[in-house]
Amino acid sequence: MIRAYVATNLTQAHLIRGFLDSEGIFSVVRGEHLVAIQGEVPITMDTLPSIWVNEADRETARRLIDQALQSQLIFEDWVCPDCSETIEGQFTECWQCGAPRTPV
Ligand SMILES: [Zn+2]
Repeated sequence: MIRAYVATNLTQAHLIRGFLDSEGIFSVVRGEHLVAIQGEVPITMDTLPSIWVNEADRETARRLIDQALQSQLIFEDWVCPDCSETIEGQFTECWQCGAPRTPV
């Protein structure tokens, strides 16, 4: 299998896995066990959760993931313009100061 995407967090990784699954692409999330020890090890491409697909599905998977990200089916984390807090992508306003998410 090959790595199709490196997610910013586990929630996003599972959203992508579910989305690929609904499109008939088999995928697995790897690196979950490493998420638990973030803070103790440096966060790199290898310690973030990643989505792996069969090599034959690589192009399709990448296209679907791009589509999902662009159509905001899957949100990426965003940074609050007012207080600089990092907010998980599924939230539309800052949980710290209430500022709305700015359009990407
Ligand atoms: Zn804020």
